[in-house]
Amino acid sequence: MRLACDCGAVIEADNAEKFVARAQAHALETHSMRFSADQILALAAGDGRHGTTFRSARPDHEPPA
Ligand SMILES: [Zn+2]
Repeated sequence: MRLACDCGAVIEADNAEKFVARAQAHALETHSMRFSADQILALAAGDGRHGTTFRSARPDHEPPA
């Protein structure tokens, strides 16, 4: 699984569990955004409903300015 964040980081893992953990860690550490596993997987699937990157998604909490 692979997701390119709009900050330039690429999150990759060979299974969903690792992928979700890495993506959540990146979103939290780099963007101060929390995502559920479902949100991460929706982003990776590119279903469009949640955007295709962390910043275009709608997190539960707005990131700090
Ligand atoms: Zn990022």
